Amino acid sequence: MLEQISRDIHEELPDNSEISRIEFEGPEVAVYSRNPKVLVDDETIIKELAKKLRKRIVIRSDPDVRLPKDQTMYLINELVGKEGEITTIDFDELVGEVVIEALKPGVIIGKSGDMLRTIISKTLWRPRVMRTPPIESRVIKTVRHLYQKHSKKRQDILRVIGKRIHRPVIYRDDTIRVTALGGFAEVGRSSALVQTGESKVLVDCGINVGSNSPNNTFPRFDLPEFDIEELDAVVVSHAHLDHSGFVPYLFKYGYKGAIYATRPTRDLMTMLQLDYLDVANKEGKTLPYEQDDIRESVLHTIVLDYGEVTDISPDIRLTFHNAGHIVGSAIPHLHIGEGVYNLAFAQDIKYAKSNLLDPAISRFPRLETLFIESTYGKPQDILPSRTECEDLLRNIVFDTIQKGGKVLIPVLAVGRAQEILVVLEGMMRDGKIPNIPIYTDGMIREASAITTAHPEFLSKSLRERIFHEGQNPFLAEQINQVASPEERDLIIQGDPAIIVATSGMLNGGPSVLYFKALCQDSNNSLIFVSYQGKGTLGSKIQKGITEIQMVEEGKTVMYHIAMGVHSITGFTGHSDRRELENYINKVIPKPERVVVIHGEESKVTKFASWVYKTTKRESLAPPNGTTIRLR
Ligand SMILES: [Zn+2]
Repeated sequence: MLEQISRDIHEELPDNSEISRIEFEGPEVAVYSRNPKVLVDDETIIKELAKKLRKRIVIRSDPDVRLPKDQTMYLINELVGKEGEITTIDFDELVGEVVIEALKPGVIIGKSGDMLRTIISKTLWRPRVMRTPPIESRVIKTVRHLYQKHSKKRQDILRVIGKRIHRPVIYRDDTIRVTALGGFAEVGRSSALVQTGESKVLVDCGINVGSNSPNNTFPRFDLPEFDIEELDAVVVSHAHLDHSGFVPYLFKYGYKGAIYATRPTRDLMTMLQLDYLDVANKEGKTLPYEQDDIRESVLHTIVLDYGEVTDISPDIRLTFHNAGHIVGSAIPHLHIGEGVYNLAFAQDIKYAKSNLLDPAISRFPRLETLFIESTYGKPQDILPSRTECEDLLRNIVFDTIQKGGKVLIPVLAVGRAQEILVVLEGMMRDGKIPNIPIYTDGMIREASAITTAHPEFLSKSLRERIFHEGQNPFLAEQINQVASPEERDLIIQGDPAIIVATSGMLNGGPSVLYFKALCQDSNNSLIFVSYQGKGTLGSKIQKGITEIQMVEEGKTVMYHIAMGVHSITGFTGHSDRRELENYINKVIPKPERVVVIHGEESKVTKFASWVYKTTKRESLAPPNGTTIRLR
């Protein structure tokens, strides 16, 4: 395949572009040139070529013709001047990129990319411009270091992936099937296998962290339809472990293909997977994979922006669309064959604006089958409005402080934590609640750091606040990250405070430690702000139990719950029933079929029957283990 593409490229490009090498780089074709100016100056040449070959083409300069690194750095600083506020300049020699991190990336890009073009033509390095993150992130540093250290390996990985994607299509039988491996008629371990005649793609690969039995924890890879050897690609909708937690396992068992995710998803899932191993290890559980497998997963990840159309197999094209759920969350849209069929996976969507994100996208170029979540899919699952929720939160916090108590809010590190911090910081700034310390515990600060490192994925209003008004809510002086167990004790014994801690369902993590220390005092308050999975401590407390037994160092300890217990559901990153109905009514184009997933059994069936009654389109809610034929 590459030989054919190479011949075409040599034929199409002008002789003076001096092509030295052509290589697959994942879904893209990299063309190395000794005279890239010709191709950079006249953009139409490459655009025409890409259109003709129906491939994404990227031009790279041959290593011999690039300006030496020290001179390149000097020249970039000269060209950009002080205005750009460059913080670091790094080089990726294998692909010929100069990575420029700056506080004012716009200056480095220049008017309609003018500055970028000047840098390319004067240095023959291709600039990649990034905004210096407002909060330093350990994970982002680690990921970047991994790519630098294993740059050669990464290039080999991308070449193998590219060969597989661009192989000729042999089986054109046009049947399309989806096998439910996890997260069907349940919440947790989301995974669906999409099969065409030619290829097999996995959409999500999650772990049900709340489950007690191994049989219900991982996707059903034991089913005959699943064969790791035949897998072409893995698509990850968002970073939550119930969608991404099992990805490294694939590498432990020999998967060599790509993981497709947005940039925030890549960073956040790496953070959550590392933490998952850490927690499981401490609890003495058998680990399904090791740290090395997480590293492999990072090295095999290809990041995509919203709206970027990419070949992921010979007959499947992937596009991510904003899902409004957590930063970087996406609705993966798969286009199969040349206009043969289209499906979208709206799993974990918020069809309303939140403090952090814009609402989920409901318009697609084409759509035959829509998969949609139903976490809040029962007719009674109507959540109060955001203003009502904010008022309720304000009142609980206010009353608790008056009594001299403390407020504990258990949260998932990614998503709800940031949403709640933005709300609390806003209330303090507006004087609605007194200025008291907000302690975050668990990986919340790191998650906030990753969130603000990718501002292009945040809502327009929050982006404006952070970058134009210089008000980053995550950097507010009231917010303090807890760094040690001693500090935790001081907080528990100290003055009124708000504690925002992981995990969100009180199934492990610092939130449980705070809960045990605070639950027996009626002056304190516990506020649930997210969905509590079946069987978790959180759901038991939410249902009203007052006595709880816990095993500590081999002994059973009894806790009497006296603290106020409240649930504020409206801050969820999921759509409530009304928003789900709106989504079905508004989605364009109208799909022929709706498959309801990601909800307890009663919710998937109820919502599916509503869909059928309202739209008169086929609707179904299959359980795990079933295979449905879409075409
Ligand atoms: Zn989620």
